[in-house]
Amino acid sequence: MATYEYDCPRCGRFETRQPMGTAADSHTCPTCLGNAHRVFSAPHLNAVPEQLSAALAREERSRAEPEVVTEVPDSPSRLRP
Ligand SMILES: [Zn+2]
Repeated sequence: MATYEYDCPRCGRFETRQPMGTAADSHTCPTCLGNAHRVFSAPHLNAVPEQLSAALAREERSRAEPEVVTEVPDSPSRLRP
């Protein structure tokens, strides 16, 4: 079973549980019996920890524009007096 989200114009969003791959583009609203449209979202992404989310965003970005090191980092020996 998978959870699908629908948006009723009158009542707002609700979720239904249906076998994977069987969700239609619209669903009868359980409250007003009106026609609700399917919402394509990834609600579970909200549960991703902030650090992991940042790492994923950085990884995504680096595919297009890799971070390039332009300077040699100070070596420890140079820091000695
Ligand atoms: Zn409704």
